[in-house]
Amino acid sequence: MITPLFYDELTVHTQSHDYPIVITESTIGKNSAGKDSSEISNMAAQVTPYIHGQQVLIVTNETVAPLYLQPLQDQLAEQFTVAVCVLADGEQYKNQASINQIYDVLMAQHFNRDVTLIALGGGVVGDMTGFAAASFMRGVNFIQIPTTVLSQVDSSVGGKTGINHPQGKNMIGAFWQPQMVLADMSTLRTLPARELSAGLAEVIKYALIMDVDFLTWLEQNLPAMLALDLAILGEAVKRCCQYKADIVAQDERESGIRAILNFGHTFGHVIETHEGYGNWLHGEAVAAGMVQAAELSQKLGWLSLDDVARIKRVLTLAKLPITPPPIAIDTALNLMGHDKKVKQGQIRLILLKSLGDAVLTADFDESLLIDVLSQHTQ
Ligand code: NAD
Ligand code: MG
Repeated sequence: MITPLFYDELTVHTQSHDYPIVITESTIGKNSAGKDSSEISNMAAQVTPYIHGQQVLIVTNETVAPLYLQPLQDQLAEQFTVAVCVLADGEQYKNQASINQIYDVLMAQHFNRDVTLIALGGGVVGDMTGFAAASFMRGVNFIQIPTTVLSQVDSSVGGKTGINHPQGKNMIGAFWQPQMVLADMSTLRTLPARELSAGLAEVIKYALIMDVDFLTWLEQNLPAMLALDLAILGEAVKRCCQYKADIVAQDERESGIRAILNFGHTFGHVIETHEGYGNWLHGEAVAAGMVQAAELSQKLGWLSLDDVARIKRVLTLAKLPITPPPIAIDTALNLMGHDKKVKQGQIRLILLKSLGDAVLTADFDESLLIDVLSQHTQ
């Protein structure tokens, strides 16, 4: 195994079991091109201790497979029976048909309860692989190798797995925790810049809801992160995973505090739905949504105008949008009414009491919400 440039590890505590998140860089040098596979990857070595039994199914997609599949597959095949399932790329394929494709390979291979599924890809692959693992033979082991910033800081941690229904996103799923998460920072070298920034929206979210010192750290380090300084990105991923792990340990099933992770998401959901999924990336919508949530927090007297300006500056630094597209107020309110966080007809939102401190509240005047929404109406 090649010695990684850096290596860090933390533990997630859940009701079913504890598991590690390993944050490291597996490849040395610019890119893997032209090198012998045994020299360029230790992904396999990192995950091997967490594979019990002889059977492995790697699930990935058509974009990620040509980049990272081969060395992982080859090295695991030296020790295990390895099958592969390469899915189509895209949120529109996060559906039952793709899950069936995974089951088909598992059945064709005569794999049994001892199989370990490995998710190699972004949040879409991770959510589907996790759900297939949760349901195949009533539950088998799986490992996450998240390859986007978003999946490294958010979707791979915490055990939410699932797929979309034609009538709603993430409507079918299960809580199912992985055996380990391997965040290999070197995979971020091939991530499109827009996806990198979208993931950084969730990174900035943790600072805004949990830790104002982390916000200061980000203000200093975002340029290095955008320039793909993997050690700095690794440090940010580690901090975010620690925040999420702390929240998940307190509230695995989202009956309370876990909801604050949805900061900016109710407003963002309006943008995503109105603009059509795919036109605005999730992180972009969350960025503009966090500004709106901050503006409402300011109207309630919790944040200062300077705080709001600071939030806009840090999002801009990360090359994220801070203004939502024009959406009619009725449409926006209506879309908010469809949000899962609505209770007894009241819109409940995650707002900021101060920078680094979030609350879930319905205790605000709807006219203030309308003020915020109307700032960006045509
Ligand atoms: P994604 O999985 O669609 O990945 C974004 C794009 O980048 C895709 O085209 C993908 O093929 C490509 N890609 C991935 N890794 C790459 C790499 N290293 N190099 C080049 N291209 C790469 O999107 P995402 O943002 O990672 O995840 C979004 C999904 O995560 C959504 O479905 C969302 O619902 C889900 N999610 C789940 C949770 C959870 O708790 N389970 C939390 C947040 C989001
Ligand atoms: Mg999100």
